[in-house]
Amino acid sequence: MVKQILNNLKTKLILKPVYKQWPGLIKAYKEWLPITNNTPIISLQEGGTPLIELKSINKIIGNNVKVYAKYDGLNPTGSFKDRGMTMAISKAKEEGCKAVICASTGNTSAAAAAYAKKGDMRSFVLIPDGYVAQGKLAQALVYGAEIIAIKGNFDKALSIVQEMSKEFPVTLVNSVNPYRLEGQKTAAFEIIDALGEAPDWLCIPMGNAGNISAYWIGFNEYFKKGISKKLPRMMGFQAEGSAPLVLGKTIENPETIATAIRIGNPVNKEKAYIVKKESEGKFNSVTDEEIIKAYKLLGKEEGIFCEPASASSIAGLLKLKKEIPKNAVIVCVLTGNGLKDPDCAIKNNDAVFKSGIEPDLEIVAKNMGF
Ligand SMILES: *Cc1c(COP(=O)(O)O)cnc(C)c1O
Repeated sequence: MVKQILNNLKTKLILKPVYKQWPGLIKAYKEWLPITNNTPIISLQEGGTPLIELKSINKIIGNNVKVYAKYDGLNPTGSFKDRGMTMAISKAKEEGCKAVICASTGNTSAAAAAYAKKGDMRSFVLIPDGYVAQGKLAQALVYGAEIIAIKGNFDKALSIVQEMSKEFPVTLVNSVNPYRLEGQKTAAFEIIDALGEAPDWLCIPMGNAGNISAYWIGFNEYFKKGISKKLPRMMGFQAEGSAPLVLGKTIENPETIATAIRIGNPVNKEKAYIVKKESEGKFNSVTDEEIIKAYKLLGKEEGIFCEPASASSIAGLLKLKKEIPKNAVIVCVLTGNGLKDPDCAIKNNDAVFKSGIEPDLEIVAKNMGF
């Protein structure tokens, strides 16, 4: 009798595995990060995002190429910035800081505001007036950031906050803060943990080029420890009207629909050029039209809604189609969530949308084509 009960229990346990919660990236990758027992971990359980195979892109490319999306738009505030912010804010808290500041095209401010509140700090954000997507602005407001919209672009805002943090008691949490990159490198770990090996190519949008630098750090750390046996080529993409790293010069008035990468003078440009060289990578630009085409494709064919800046990694990959080796494994980073920029979605879609229809079964059925 007892034996039977125990056996039943065993079968039940085997049949029904219990999935534990993802603990957040600092706890998951503690030994790889510059934290001590005294570091307070300020976390919203970021990281652990899905790596999704993109069947429709595989089909377009052919040659047995496998393309995956690292869907970092599924982080707590909807972008990869959370990976860097959990580290930057935890370290700021450890150092006794009471307020943080950043310049932002939107996502950094959303993440800074959320994590600052979680860590019981004030957050100040400087944004380019009129150039922040609605969803991102809504987040900064809801998370209680103190927002200063300046009549100038991101680059101007960044130079102000850099000076500010030298003179006043506020910690800078833009990607010049080295802890940001430490947090962000964990995305590379997650990719290798999921695939069992590094991909052949990593395709990624570039704004300030902090993220591409962070991924390269992550890939190298796993490689040096022998966890992966190869390093990917790092393929960075910018929007054509905002492509300082492709053109090799500062752009005074960057313009693109992809506001998250509307940056004319990337702070991490030296790092980015080193990544390109070391990884035998390439930097290319994509037009706004190509970005929107990829953006729509992801939504319609894959059920993935990303923001326009993120779609540049897919647009860029498709542009390099002829150069992709047979059997390659490629990861495209989808940096932010589509909900961040509802205006872009409403303006750019091929949906069927009939409005003003009478609430009548016959009429509705007729409109459905029955
Ligand atoms: C910040 C951001 C980027 C650019 O990342 P960098 O580290 O500045 O190169 C790209 N896409 C989205 C959605 C972002 O928020």
